[in-house]
Amino acid sequence: MSDIQLNNEVNELLNEVNQKISGDVVFDYGTEKSGYVRYDQSYQSWQNGDLIIHVKDVTAPNYTVSHELQHALLDATGYPTISFNVTSGHRDFDEQLMIVTTTLYDTITHLTIYEWQKQHGLLNDEVQKQYLKGVQQTIKPEENGEMDGMMHWRLLTILDALVFFGNDFDKVADQFKRDYPISLAGAQNVYQIISAKPVDSPFTLRRTVVKAFEAFDAQLEKWQLPTVGSKEFVTLGSVFSKRQLRLEVRQLFQISHSEIKSAETKERAYIGIGVNDQQNAFVLPDPPKGKTDDYFKTLYSMSVETLFKQLNLAYSVR
Ligand SMILES: [Zn+2]
Repeated sequence: MSDIQLNNEVNELLNEVNQKISGDVVFDYGTEKSGYVRYDQSYQSWQNGDLIIHVKDVTAPNYTVSHELQHALLDATGYPTISFNVTSGHRDFDEQLMIVTTTLYDTITHLTIYEWQKQHGLLNDEVQKQYLKGVQQTIKPEENGEMDGMMHWRLLTILDALVFFGNDFDKVADQFKRDYPISLAGAQNVYQIISAKPVDSPFTLRRTVVKAFEAFDAQLEKWQLPTVGSKEFVTLGSVFSKRQLRLEVRQLFQISHSEIKSAETKERAYIGIGVNDQQNAFVLPDPPKGKTDDYFKTLYSMSVETLFKQLNLAYSVR
């Protein structure tokens, strides 16, 4: 048994999540106490219909538990998630891309999660210090104003710090300017774009994730570093209006016969790309051999709702 006592704010959130999910929330506490907080100290899994929240490091249990519960709440209330259905054919590259993209996606969800935590007194001075320590454990200072192989990771980490500190960033700005001047400037470019409009619904989250994928690559390009290409590589869940659900597939999507391969079939993937945002919204199974033209003709004239139901794809309605 663990002797961890959660405070009232976190217990109320726990009740809310318990009402939204079919099973129960169960906690699995570890014993590590590093003195800092970081994204990799906790994670979630499902077992027999229950949501297990694993908290390996109990430096700041109220902060860490409420953070995981907020992620669970977003998932349970139709906020779109990401999935990986294509492959570059190179395992290392695929893994890097998953890590980078998942981290970036998480940071966008943090625009609402940290805000909630702040409003409920969970980002107090102590947690802010522990978070800053976590950053320093994750990324080394830049050396001699030069870029190195860690720039992707610095950009991601500092972007999340900008979201975490929000209006309190001035408190820590000097340290970031001293240790990470190039990365900070880059992260601020991306931050401006992702924080321009509020993220408070499945639709606004989705819109902001797409912008983040674009802005992240744009920053890497400015630095003349290899880009990630998340928009084509990563499937982002859809959010439709009722009117959009009735439209024909061709009005919202273009099926691209991509150069990258389906993770399932290892053949060139057929990716459903949003006409307006160029975002990978689904990956099709391979069309029946020899009947490709008919297959796509039928598919393009279906309603969006029919296609998504047929493919068993989750989506939200706004
Ligand atoms: Zn998170």
